[in-house]
Amino acid sequence: MKGLNEGLKKKLSRHIDDEKEDIIQLCSELVKIPSENPPGDMGDIALFVKGWLEARGLRVETYEPERGRVSLISKIGEVDKPALILNGHMDVVPAGDPKRWDFPPYCGEVKGGKVLGRGATDMKGGLTSIIAAFTTVFQVVKALPGRVILNAVPDEETGGEHGSGWCVKIGKVQGDACLIGEPSGIRHSFIGEKGICWLRLNSEGVPAHGSLPMFGENAIEKLVKALPIAQRMRREEVETPREIASVIEASQDFYREMMRGKGVTDEAKIEDAARAINHNTVNIGVIRGGVKTNIVPESCTANIDIRVPAGVTPEKVKMHIEEMLKEAGLADIKCEFIDRSNPNYTSPTEEIFTVLDNNVREVVGVNVKPLFMTGATDGRFFRLKGIPAINYGPGEISLAHAYNEYVLTDDLIRATKVVAGTIVDFIYH
Ligand SMILES: [Zn+2]
Repeated sequence: MKGLNEGLKKKLSRHIDDEKEDIIQLCSELVKIPSENPPGDMGDIALFVKGWLEARGLRVETYEPERGRVSLISKIGEVDKPALILNGHMDVVPAGDPKRWDFPPYCGEVKGGKVLGRGATDMKGGLTSIIAAFTTVFQVVKALPGRVILNAVPDEETGGEHGSGWCVKIGKVQGDACLIGEPSGIRHSFIGEKGICWLRLNSEGVPAHGSLPMFGENAIEKLVKALPIAQRMRREEVETPREIASVIEASQDFYREMMRGKGVTDEAKIEDAARAINHNTVNIGVIRGGVKTNIVPESCTANIDIRVPAGVTPEKVKMHIEEMLKEAGLADIKCEFIDRSNPNYTSPTEEIFTVLDNNVREVVGVNVKPLFMTGATDGRFFRLKGIPAINYGPGEISLAHAYNEYVLTDDLIRATKVVAGTIVDFIYH
């Protein structure tokens, strides 16, 4: 099959070169549609993507389980197996303060080898690459002996439950592997991510007049004592699963480099960022309590965002915090999950990764480096369902959610070639 694949891939690569301007234009058009989330209404951008695909002869299914949360699914191929899913989110984070941009955030201008604007990196560049690769395979390959499923989703920036989560859960999207176009840079691939352990701590007290606080019980003061206990999770030692030890180490180097690239010079901070890959991090995100200065508060709540590395589960973290609260005489503080997911990864020995690696070598000239990330992506929905999933897309992770976001047009085209080649090698293996 090898020879056949090579010929086919050359054809695809030439086709992508011929369509280069159209592909860059597609990215620009996507950036021009401000699909901010929140609020998260994908009506306009979904309509555009659907129209773009249909104009090229593709059939597109539309689903809207919640108002404005539109998912698109398009399928090509002759048989159901092997099936490769290409997934990308259409939503972007809000542009923030327009004065802090050097250009209008939704200009989508193509200038100096870049497409400029909010979402260019995260992830309209990657969305462009998977759409263009999918369409190229559809146009060039007749009678594809497998299935490719393009899945454009909403809601990723606010948790993904109504986008990828929904598509995977109800079985609208099924396959043997999944490639997500999230920005990894064209030399890296994110194969795993930390888990989520979002907790709500709640303390109850007894209200009293503020001038005689001894007759009450102060819920805020009680909760404040619990916070350092939650923060202790930062120091917890973690045993990393052996099969990804080298991935974790490489990821730490990657995060160190990224911090330096962002202009951070404080070595302690840089080490903290590297440490975050294989340790818990704790962020006290919200605190609410009390109603009036002169009333002893009756209740207080804190929302805490703990990210757990491979080797730890959110359940274990919660249990440990509850034990420590008990030891500290704070057993009546309630601790409950707001959200949780296990840390998850796809082994670099999985076929989807080795196939990607071959294609990055062919197109970019280097071996793709597998990395672990601190943030959660839609990858978890697939992995937790047993579908190997990796992130590969143009754009640099340090530009995601940042001002003056852009994607390099060269990377856009190269990523498109890598994805097209990966489709072919995966289907014809
Ligand atoms: Zn993203």
